[in-house]
Amino acid sequence: MGISEDAFAYALSSNQAWAGYKAHQNPDFFPRLAAGQSPEILWLGCSDSRCPETTILGLQPGDVFVHRNIANIISPTDINTSAVIEYAVDQLRVKHVVLCGHSECGGAAAALGDMRVGGVLDTWLTPLKAIRNANKDELNAIGDEKARAVRIAELNIDAGIKILMANITIQDAIRDRGLQVHGTLFDIGSGRLRNLGLGTGKGGHKHGSGGIHDAEVVRGNHGTLAMRIAEQKMAFPKSTFSSSMRGFRTTPRKSKSNDDELQSVPMSLTVLSDEVIRNLLDNLTHDEAECFQNVLKSALHEYSTATQAIEAGLYHQPPRTSSYSDRTGATTLFMPSMSPIGHGVKVVTLSSPHADSSLPTIKPTGSLTLYAPEGNPIGFLHAQTLTAFRTALASSCLLTKRANVRTLTVFGAGLQAYWHIRLALMLRGATIRTVNIINRQFSENAKQVLRELYAVPVEVKEREGWEEVQFSMLTPGYGEYNRLQKENIRAADVIYCCTPSTEELFDASILTNHEGRRKGRLIVAVGSYTKDMRELPRELLVQATRPHKHGHLHYHKHATEGGVIVVDSLDGALKEAGEIINAELEPKQLIELGELIMIRRLATEESISSRRSTEADSLSESIDKLDFSSPTSAMSTVYGTSSETGSISKRSSSQSPSRTRRGSDSGDKSGFHLPGFRHHKRTASSRSEKETQKHDEHLARWITSGNVIYKSVGLGLMDLVVGLEVVKLANAKNLGTRVENFVP
Ligand SMILES: [Zn+2]
Repeated sequence: MGISEDAFAYALSSNQAWAGYKAHQNPDFFPRLAAGQSPEILWLGCSDSRCPETTILGLQPGDVFVHRNIANIISPTDINTSAVIEYAVDQLRVKHVVLCGHSECGGAAAALGDMRVGGVLDTWLTPLKAIRNANKDELNAIGDEKARAVRIAELNIDAGIKILMANITIQDAIRDRGLQVHGTLFDIGSGRLRNLGLGTGKGGHKHGSGGIHDAEVVRGNHGTLAMRIAEQKMAFPKSTFSSSMRGFRTTPRKSKSNDDELQSVPMSLTVLSDEVIRNLLDNLTHDEAECFQNVLKSALHEYSTATQAIEAGLYHQPPRTSSYSDRTGATTLFMPSMSPIGHGVKVVTLSSPHADSSLPTIKPTGSLTLYAPEGNPIGFLHAQTLTAFRTALASSCLLTKRANVRTLTVFGAGLQAYWHIRLALMLRGATIRTVNIINRQFSENAKQVLRELYAVPVEVKEREGWEEVQFSMLTPGYGEYNRLQKENIRAADVIYCCTPSTEELFDASILTNHEGRRKGRLIVAVGSYTKDMRELPRELLVQATRPHKHGHLHYHKHATEGGVIVVDSLDGALKEAGEIINAELEPKQLIELGELIMIRRLATEESISSRRSTEADSLSESIDKLDFSSPTSAMSTVYGTSSETGSISKRSSSQSPSRTRRGSDSGDKSGFHLPGFRHHKRTASSRSEKETQKHDEHLARWITSGNVIYKSVGLGLMDLVVGLEVVKLANAKNLGTRVENFVP
């Protein structure tokens, strides 16, 4: 899943990952789909790429039978729509017909305007133009263009519902078996579906926003679509990610025969010792490790880019609290986190660096408790290995994007170091040739790491492709330490810093001088986690974030610089990352991992789509809004940027108030402009093709082979999503202890 592929290649590899993931989640999923379909919903909607019915309903393949056309026009003489209706209602015997329009509809906009859009499209949009003419006064009275487009979309649904209600097949099914017909409107700006209360479920709001007066509940085969909940809000399973994780739902469901996937969910509490967790994780297959990675990526992405309110049950990271005890000389950290698939809290205790030295040292120890969304405890896990693993897993999201991963250089020899090496071998073992470990002393710890790596069974090494890897251990006691340290750092494609150091681990000039900058490296710093700790030299961070003169990008001399430091959490980094604080970096010089990991390279398809729209120049702007010209509009909304305006994504206003807001200025002077994620609907005119392409190429080059520095201080959310996945896997493999009926 490299970002250097085109959209189709990316889609193909994404499909492989999806299919693998679904099969892993539920081995019965595809065999059951293959056995036949019995969807309960027929969806009639617009072809617009932003309204994929199954996705926005939070449902699954097999749940919805679909017909979509431009502007969701229902015409009694359209044989295509009629055949779909007949098959769905007569043969599949769906229980609901849902006609859905949407905001920002290009078809509606085209019908409102008087211009011709050309070809068969004018003909197709004729019914909509008739609706406009019939409601001219009402529509003209609406001053706001967007509101006018929403209103005509509503009128279009109203007209479509009338045609549906007059359809013989539908009439018979309403009479004979209580088929229901619904008119809805999808608001693209909020992702919410509004029931217009038309069709068989009358009485809803026809107009305005947010009102759902229909007490209807539609159940899909795999998920629940609640058409009405309290306080006029609609609730759906939050994303395909959350619905695929619904194994953790514990609410009893009215089930259908093919719904027992969810019925097998145990109501037990799973207790996992550190040893069990370590065994489980050590023996992950490549695919399982990728599943873990995908789960974490989705969660981090939602966390960093969420647009919905916390109350909607999305990913949320309340601040952690800590307290210090004089009696033990230790600090206890309490780390809560929330998600659509459950919540949890990790409690970890460790000796404070400032404790009385006569007190016994407490190495980080504690546990993670996991709960289902409804509050039932479902997991109690030792926190030690889990913490190291989830930290390394987050770093690995960047590692797997790198073009060259031959030489790893690792500072430290604790659990973090072990798991960074182990995961790198698991995911990129075939390309790795050398692993250099640099430790302050040749301790038992250090020997232990090497022993563990050597002890991995040969067949696993062969499967992962690293049976020939050379390991080396360097300690300061060695005479040529300085020279070898410099060599190891220079040779590295990836540097992992995994020590709780209070001093910079190496001299900045090794990497900041001319020779050091020739090669791009992924540099990961996870060992230090307080203001007074730091591993990376200050000058390295300053150079990586130093503004360049516009257009002067040094491709020829240096590895590409991003102009930013990647962090796991902006707030966490600004408060707790010694390196970031010491280098006096500002929020605009940081970017969250969750914002980066879903980016795909757009250069190729961008240039194709621009070429196409030049050819189709005569098409009106309204038709542009239909997004025919861009096969990647969904991607553009994930990753759109605007280096001309210098604007940058702002945190959603619904994020916790404690979350730091970025400035609105990305710094025009920076050599690399931060992607302004989401929200930015890129329009053809906002930037030139050349600039877009150059920017995207730069971004791709930076992530795959430039200098990328990632600083992590840890996030409770990582514990939560990784912990839930560990519980699921342990249950599937019958590992650990199950306390049955813990919940009465
Ligand atoms: Zn549309």
